[in-house]
Amino acid sequence: MVATHADWAWVREVLLSSLTEASKRKGIDIFIIDNDHNVLYPDSHFPNDINVPKALPKDGQFKSLIWQDKEEYLTSLVSVHSPESSNLGWQIVVRQPLSIAMSTVNEVHKLLLFLGVFSTLLCMILAYQFASTLSRPLERLAHTAKSIQQGNRQATFQDNSKLSEVVSLSRSLEEMMSSLLEREQSLMQMNLTLETKVQNRTAELEASNRSLEAIVRQDPLTHSYNRLALDEALLNEYRMSQEGNQPFAVIMTDVDHFKKVNDVYGHTVGDTVLKKMAKLLTDLVGAKGMVARFGGEEFTVLLPNTNVQEAKNMAEILREKLEKEEMSTGLYITASFGIAMFKIDDSHYEQVLNRADAALYKAKEQGRNRVVVG
Ligand code: GH3
Ligand code: MG
Ligand code: MG
Repeated sequence: MVATHADWAWVREVLLSSLTEASKRKGIDIFIIDNDHNVLYPDSHFPNDINVPKALPKDGQFKSLIWQDKEEYLTSLVSVHSPESSNLGWQIVVRQPLSIAMSTVNEVHKLLLFLGVFSTLLCMILAYQFASTLSRPLERLAHTAKSIQQGNRQATFQDNSKLSEVVSLSRSLEEMMSSLLEREQSLMQMNLTLETKVQNRTAELEASNRSLEAIVRQDPLTHSYNRLALDEALLNEYRMSQEGNQPFAVIMTDVDHFKKVNDVYGHTVGDTVLKKMAKLLTDLVGAKGMVARFGGEEFTVLLPNTNVQEAKNMAEILREKLEKEEMSTGLYITASFGIAMFKIDDSHYEQVLNRADAALYKAKEQGRNRVVVG
């Protein structure tokens, strides 16, 4: 049809009318070329001859090509159909600078990039907000737990977080802590009670130990000291006297004809006599010394820091008081006394006892109810 109307002015009109105003602004150029790529149209638009690139796109397709002016154009090609007999092989080539053609794509690309950055930032802000909402309360709970571990019993797990999970977790922790504190309190109370019990028990044991020690050193019948207590006291006195050269005296006394008391009045009365005699001796000696049952109806009096005269006086007092004491109804007794003094060259306290016993024996020999100094 173009060939038929070989009037290029008309062709230009047709082509220009097919281009909208917008297309014109967008730098679109139209060329008509022949089989050998010679530009038939436009013939006077360009001062220099236009060379169409060799590697044009196939019919109906488009391609990005660098043209003669070194610019890149989006180029498309459409063949002009003509009858077989007059096959001119004309083609219409349309080009547009690639920068203009791709401007929309670039804008979309920029928009996508902006949207990408914006959504990343938004995600980061949301993630930060979410982390703050979740992690801060948890951090506070962890901090409270640490503070409690360090001994702060006033710390509380109560949290004003809006997250229901955090609220329920803090409530559970609060309950757990208060139950642990209650247990700690009751354990402390139990410990205190236990300590008091142990203290009381220890005091009781110490008291019973003391009373056991006293019982061990006590004569069961007369409740005066026994032989063990006398031996300990004598050893102690003997050592002190050796060091300080202080005298001590021992009086040994034995009830006269005590067998007869048992025989006539019976053993029970005999026991009563022994008890009364022990009390009388203990009361009279008092703080001046100690009275011990030596065995049977025999008693020993230890008089620390006492000279022979003082010991003799004491023995006389005891003897006189005994003979005047009514032991049972109508029953009076007498006793014999032997005195011995500590000597610095005594190698053992028993030597003093032996001398007192010998003096007692003499008192018996000399007629009983008397005091003999050994
Ligand atoms: P002497 O003047 O020579 O000491 O004569 P005695 O009878 O006192 O001496 P003897 O050793 O012959 O008798 C002591 C008696 O003391 C014999 C014993 O039955 C009695 N006797 C010893 N221990 C106890 C006791 O615990 N209770 C009673 N009731 N009698 C006792
Ligand atoms: Mg006797
Ligand atoms: Mg005797």
